[in-house]
Amino acid sequence: MDPRYSILFEPIKIGPVTAPNRFVSMPHAIGHSYLMPNGAIGIRETRAEGGWGIVAMQLSEIDPTSDLAGLPYERLWDEGDVKAHARSVDRIRAHGALASIELGHTGIRSRGLTTGYPAMGPSVLPTLKPDMPLMAKAMDKDDIRTLRRSFRDAIGRAKKAGYDIAYVYASHDASILWHFLSPAYNFRTDEYGGSFENRVRLFREVLEEAKEEAGDQMAVAVRFAVHELSGPKRILNTGEGRAVIESLADLPDMWDVNVSSWSRDSGTARYDAEGFQEEFTQFVKTVTGKPVLGVGRFTSPDAMVSQIRRGVLDLIGAARPSIADPFLPEKIREGRIEDIRECIGCNMCVAVETVGMELRCTQNPTISEEWRRGWHPERIPKTENEKNILIVGSGPAGLEAALVLAKAGHAVTVAERDDELGGRSTREARIKGLSSWGRVKDYRLYQLQQMPNVNLYPGSELGADGIADFGADHVLLATGAPWRSDGAGRTRLQPISGFADFALTPDLVMDGAAIGPSVVIYDDDHYYMANALAADLSAKGHQVNLVTPMPSLSAWMGHTLEQPRMIAEMKAAGVRMYPNTVASAWDEAGLAVIRGDTGESLPTISATTLIVVGTRLPDTTLAVGLAEKGIPFRTIGDAECPGVIQSAVYSGHRHAREVLGTEPEDRIFKRERPTLFL
Ligand code: ADP
Ligand code: SF4
Repeated sequence: MDPRYSILFEPIKIGPVTAPNRFVSMPHAIGHSYLMPNGAIGIRETRAEGGWGIVAMQLSEIDPTSDLAGLPYERLWDEGDVKAHARSVDRIRAHGALASIELGHTGIRSRGLTTGYPAMGPSVLPTLKPDMPLMAKAMDKDDIRTLRRSFRDAIGRAKKAGYDIAYVYASHDASILWHFLSPAYNFRTDEYGGSFENRVRLFREVLEEAKEEAGDQMAVAVRFAVHELSGPKRILNTGEGRAVIESLADLPDMWDVNVSSWSRDSGTARYDAEGFQEEFTQFVKTVTGKPVLGVGRFTSPDAMVSQIRRGVLDLIGAARPSIADPFLPEKIREGRIEDIRECIGCNMCVAVETVGMELRCTQNPTISEEWRRGWHPERIPKTENEKNILIVGSGPAGLEAALVLAKAGHAVTVAERDDELGGRSTREARIKGLSSWGRVKDYRLYQLQQMPNVNLYPGSELGADGIADFGADHVLLATGAPWRSDGAGRTRLQPISGFADFALTPDLVMDGAAIGPSVVIYDDDHYYMANALAADLSAKGHQVNLVTPMPSLSAWMGHTLEQPRMIAEMKAAGVRMYPNTVASAWDEAGLAVIRGDTGESLPTISATTLIVVGTRLPDTTLAVGLAEKGIPFRTIGDAECPGVIQSAVYSGHRHAREVLGTEPEDRIFKRERPTLFL
């Protein structure tokens, strides 16, 4: 091990238990609810194998009143839930890691839809889901007693399941303890409301009882947001984040501190750099003598060491970096820093969870497939029958497929038309705010360049004849999908008058097309491309108008938690925004537009350049040419089905495994099945 990093591998005592190192795979949503225990265990076990010293269970409801109806979280309501948790603990501990569980009651974030019990909070309040017509009731003294009992009982069950550390969750605006603490939500006039001491009372009681129940067998940690960067900001404004730590200083065995709300805690690379939480959390270690854990999208061992040496944190927490590379600690231990598959900070993992799906990741296609498909993030089965494989195109799909097939032992050739390898991962990384997209190709290219059975040929456009001459055993077309210029987009599938002849596409802009002083970007894609180009061109001095037929800009960025910050970025950059505005034609006067809802004509938006970000259409010329020659091939990535980078990487990985013959031919993989009692 590199001695510079040895501090990361020093054990640390946390109450009655000792963590073997400083790496913590954090409690975070994984999209596998209590109904999918096998898949969830697969994710956690892989992390324990990858060297994380503590591996956490995601947020677990403690009783039926903390029901998060429809959101894929965990449950530890009663004895019946203990068995599944115990299995998870066993699998984590089998690899030498400690197992932790985050126990929480989500208060006015609960819904009570499946259980029928009302959501509860310090006061009568709307539940924290503004688009749901639900309210929370004010808890009376009996409710408070029952809640304390529920926390205590859940701690007892966590101990029974064998957990080493149980959390009292008090972070974000998703904890009832936070709701009691915050004057934005707590309007009580009894001993649980008003003064700081009164508002922190429930938190203190729950924590004291948790410690009592845990005894000398299990540590009790607290997760608490010391700073509110969005939301009602009452804790920030009054400086009470610090007051809470001072008041409860040495009561928990470990402080796990972060910022609120979730959208700021999980800041993307576009808006927050590695280690961005330090300015808010650095005071904590000066206030408590207990170990302090924190996050910050850490992927660099130097940054981690610096946090510990400078006394900011004792333990390095990672949610997204552990998704992108479950073997990150092991790679540092073995001195394989270049092998780390660094999180790109895109929040696709968050986005899929918000729509109720199991985790997906741009960098790690094997996430969520550990149990059901048997995919390991590092190991690929070796072939006994070496083949000669040609991959056309070196974007995310081509490089991922090349890596899987080369690791299996095949002879792999990648031919790329451009002089630079990497496809969209290289090209899009040049746009302002998207430089981390380049990590997708950086990781894969570095790996491929180390392998003797791989040949990479940039500047090599291949046609059907060239492919036929090559005589490969398998051909994979990873040739991507160009953006359309004709205006056909997600809300309107037809071309728009004047677009095909005059509009620039993102491809042309990335290739350096000349752009006039004033620009209209028409966004019928609704993710990052249009607004990233807007920010980029605005920074280069162009006057930018951003027009979209949808009622709000970039709806998918609501799921990546970036939408409010992106809109603020557009405003600050002077980009004029036109939501609910449908393009009807482009001519020399500019973009003719109508209102999206009523169809009424709006004033023409004048500009010298039109850029359209609509849909993408694969070029099938090569596929048709190969079919005519009778050469078998697979089309992968964006060329098969245009999508986000995550889907291209996943496609490359899956197709490569299919070439290896390890995937079921009927496409049926293992599924979680409910038990039938009748
Ligand atoms: P994906 O996201 O599916 O990986 P990309 O668009 O990122 O797709 O990458 C596709 C790559 O394929 C581009 O870099 C492009 O230059 C390359 N390409 C397209 N057609 C050919 C071809 N005929 N020969 C070689 N490379 C090609
Ligand atoms: Fe990181 Fe993106 Fe993967 Fe999430 S999806 S872990 S942000 S690379």
